[in-house]
Amino acid sequence: MMKEEDPLGGTDRLTTQEVPPGVDRRAFLMRSAAVGAAAVMTGRLVSAQEIIHQPLAVLPPQKAEPPLSKDLNVVKKEKGPVLTTLDEFYKVGPGPSSSHTIGPMRITYDFYQRAEKLPADKLAKATALKVNLFGSLSATGKGHGTERAALAGLIGKEPATVDPLFLDSLRDKPDQTFPVKLGSSTFNVSLKDVIYDATKGDFKHPNTMTVKLLAGDEVLLEQEYYSVGGGFIEWKGYTPPKKNPPKYPFSTMKELRAHADKNKLSIAQVMLANEMSIAGRTEEEVYAFTDKIINAMVATVKSGLSMPEDDVLPGPIKLHSKAATVYKRAMDDTYQADRGIGLLSAAALAASEENGRGHLVITAPTGGSAGVMPALVYGLLEARKIPLEKVRLGMLAAAAVGYLCKHHATLSAAEGGCQAEIGVASSMAAALVATAYDAESRVVENAAESALEHHLGMTCDPVAGYVQVPCIERCAFGAVKAWTAYAIASNEIASRHRVDFDATVQALAETAKDMNSKYKETSEAGLALSVVLC
Ligand code: SF4
Repeated sequence: MMKEEDPLGGTDRLTTQEVPPGVDRRAFLMRSAAVGAAAVMTGRLVSAQEIIHQPLAVLPPQKAEPPLSKDLNVVKKEKGPVLTTLDEFYKVGPGPSSSHTIGPMRITYDFYQRAEKLPADKLAKATALKVNLFGSLSATGKGHGTERAALAGLIGKEPATVDPLFLDSLRDKPDQTFPVKLGSSTFNVSLKDVIYDATKGDFKHPNTMTVKLLAGDEVLLEQEYYSVGGGFIEWKGYTPPKKNPPKYPFSTMKELRAHADKNKLSIAQVMLANEMSIAGRTEEEVYAFTDKIINAMVATVKSGLSMPEDDVLPGPIKLHSKAATVYKRAMDDTYQADRGIGLLSAAALAASEENGRGHLVITAPTGGSAGVMPALVYGLLEARKIPLEKVRLGMLAAAAVGYLCKHHATLSAAEGGCQAEIGVASSMAAALVATAYDAESRVVENAAESALEHHLGMTCDPVAGYVQVPCIERCAFGAVKAWTAYAIASNEIASRHRVDFDATVQALAETAKDMNSKYKETSEAGLALSVVLC
């Protein structure tokens, strides 16, 4: 016989109750509570089965989020050692979003190069190029300038060298047309050739797009692409390029730190050795690249700080720039600690506002989070006068953190919300600071872990689809949290830190999977819903 339960038997049963798959947890628990409350009011005993099945009868099934395709390399990545290299990871390109601006621009540039290789008789028939944006690219692409970036790539412009003023001109004069020459054919392309297509569907990745070369209605070449986060791209049938084996293979922080400790190296030195072996580069070549990125980061902060205090960022929010004001007022602060926090915040705001303007930024790991690492690099070099050699090493340790997050979780807000962007950036920045201050490997790990841990669950809900609110201030908070993480990690007994970095990355991956898709760069919920623009 079914056991009847006392409706006044406390709430433990409810709060510990397993939520059946396929329904919204909150709605289910509320309904269950309502069933119990109704029983109390009527004095009727109610069974555990009823508590579960009555709510199920009235609740709509939760919209299943399409899982990421298992074919994607970004999904298969957790197998094998980390093989990412610095030049793949730290990318210079136009803001405001690595996945919605730099990625689509790399994609159309890639397609243009493929099209160029078609046989001459095919190219002779070409009349048009068409780009279709799907999923999150379609939902929030307008706020990210995705159509302008896609068009720029189609006409042969690369993210690292494109003049941001060219992209601005596309915004100011959207009817411009540009000739494209492919073989013996020349035809015009314009923003009209980039189509905002379905936002929902059975896509392999939330950031899916197709590019086609047409001869009238005939398709001469078509490719489906995915902008998988941090400016990384894949396409249907993608296989990663062959690389040399790393000197110190690792796929977890535990393994990375074991190499460091066993060989009496720092995490950064292990990363340097791996970079040299995987990419076949000399130490000088590796440092030439880190210096280029460091200089670009300092330049983006300086450029942002030099903008007028009343500058208004592009887009419907009409957000006023505040980096210069925060900087000036911070310098007037009486207390040194206030000046430090003010300077760090101003530097992060400056680089992030540059991103909002669509100017050149550095993915570390993404465009939306492009204020975090530059703020710490600027603070270490310009304010603390830390030697460049130490900041270089910090860039290598920060890269290790970013690689591991990419390897086991995600750098894409469309997959994991803002924890995957600002959270990872803050974690990288904490590793940078700890390394620049010669911290031992365990402290570097602990600082990175702490910064990531305190961003878990952070959603992505950019107002009006623009990478401005909450993104710009969020970069400042990410930078300050990175410093706090280092302050805690360097002042605790390292071996007593109870949460290891790998566990936190796993939590990031799991939280990303469970997060409602409304909070993954779709601008359908959160601040994007509650903030009313007038
Ligand atoms: S809310 Fe975070 S993840 Fe989303 S666009 Fe802004 S910075 Fe990127």
